[in-house]
Amino acid sequence: MTHRFALGKYRKVLVLYVGGTIGMQRNNEGVFIPVPNTFLQKLKEDSEMHDPLHASKYFRDCKENELVLPSSYGHDTIIYQIIEYTPLLDSSNMTSKDWIRIARDIKLHYDTFDGFIVLHGTDTLAYTSSALSFMFDSLKKPVVITGAQIPIFERRADAKENFLTSLIIAAYYDIPEVCVFFANKLFRGNRIVKVSSNELDAFSSPNYHTLADIGVDVKVNHHYIRKTDDSIPFKLFDDLNQNVAMLTLFPTITCEMLNSFLECSLKGIVIQSYGSGNIPSKRNDLLSVFKKAVEKEMLIVNITQCSRGSVHASYEPGKVFKDIGIICGRDMTAEAALTKLAYVLALPGLSFQQRVQMMKTDLRGEMSVNVEDF
Ligand code: ASP
Repeated sequence: MTHRFALGKYRKVLVLYVGGTIGMQRNNEGVFIPVPNTFLQKLKEDSEMHDPLHASKYFRDCKENELVLPSSYGHDTIIYQIIEYTPLLDSSNMTSKDWIRIARDIKLHYDTFDGFIVLHGTDTLAYTSSALSFMFDSLKKPVVITGAQIPIFERRADAKENFLTSLIIAAYYDIPEVCVFFANKLFRGNRIVKVSSNELDAFSSPNYHTLADIGVDVKVNHHYIRKTDDSIPFKLFDDLNQNVAMLTLFPTITCEMLNSFLECSLKGIVIQSYGSGNIPSKRNDLLSVFKKAVEKEMLIVNITQCSRGSVHASYEPGKVFKDIGIICGRDMTAEAALTKLAYVLALPGLSFQQRVQMMKTDLRGEMSVNVEDF
């Protein structure tokens, strides 16, 4: 475990409050909605989240949206600044435009903060964390995405725990990755899936170890954290191709269905096949549709619809897919595969073969390279 102790007296964390349950309140009909301009005030009134005396004594020039975490939580004072998004979003309403906005905000403030937090709804959090991981190249600071299953405004909530620990990780720990903190676990952002709508540990990382486990101590699993090359500067690529989609195979799929799915101007698709990457190999009708799509330079990536494991050519129905030029997505999650496609397709000036090669390459720790390729 290594602490990255402050060189000065304090560490600065930028918090982008995008929306989600973490800051929601019930409306008159009893359903949770994001309520603007209430979250910051709630934190200011909470003595565990803000120390007004410390702020007025040592940080008199604090801005209206800057808070000071009581110092017992860390070795150096943590000052955190909240930027609340307008409108606040339930994450089910988010699109790639929102991912790009978050990425640009982090880039804009990159040099002035030690770490970043994104407060986000849990429903599409895995897409955002995956997309950000691809858009950021050579990230040197922690970007921690978190949220909650119960809002901070409720008496019993996971919101505060998740937020507080994320602040500590973003401020003190040298974890230069887009990560997700939830229910005492820190995950790599492009390895997670939402697995529960009602339990507090809503996320799982089915094919990759946690980056840190929080118990009495913070146990950082250094072996699993990506190394950065200090000689390469941090870069943001802020474009994503929206013409990407996902298709889960099912035994009663018809050629007609597949054709109409492919009809819109798609440039890439993720296929969630059976087991270790198997497709109905006796269905020549379907195979010829896929073959034609590859010939027209559509990027097609094969991942498994199982919740754990990888695709590999253990069976004949899996090998058939490789033979027609479908890319092996190894053990990528659906969220990582889709956002990686959106990223790779948006990169300018690459040939089809170069994009295929990028999809097969582990770019940000999103897939295990020791898994046997087709
Ligand atoms: N629907 C909410 C959202 O994703 C759920 C949550 O935050 O947990 O914004």
